[in-house]
Amino acid sequence: MPDSRQRENDMQFCTAINCMDGRIQLPVIRYLQRYFNAEYVDTITEPGPNRILADEKADMSIRQNILDRVTISIERHASVGMAIVGHYDCAGNPVPEATQIAQIKQAMQFLRQQFEDMAVIGLWVDENWNVHEVTAEKRQAG
Ligand SMILES: [Zn+2]
Repeated sequence: MPDSRQRENDMQFCTAINCMDGRIQLPVIRYLQRYFNAEYVDTITEPGPNRILADEKADMSIRQNILDRVTISIERHASVGMAIVGHYDCAGNPVPEATQIAQIKQAMQFLRQQFEDMAVIGLWVDENWNVHEVTAEKRQAG
């Protein structure tokens, strides 16, 4: 029988605010399972969520709906952290990588204001479906 701490890790949740694009679901889930040491990744999908959360003029009901779903993940599953994701060839957000990275950073800022005690990271999924963490300075190989 595993010790109790191992069992807690097995039960741990984190949260992905991801694009709906089917090509990036498994890469993001696998990355976040490792990153947050979490067995389960609650997944909130929209087309181009980095654009939606970066743009203060975007549809407020969609922004609020995303926040409501993150709150469920935090309050009901005790999520330990969240990621906002952008990716190559996004049909919902067809702008260059540099623009998407800037949107990810803005979205991270917004989420950190909304969820002050939560770990918030940004992810970029490249043309080979590899996942990179977006930091304040640049995107890092991951
Ligand atoms: Zn997309």
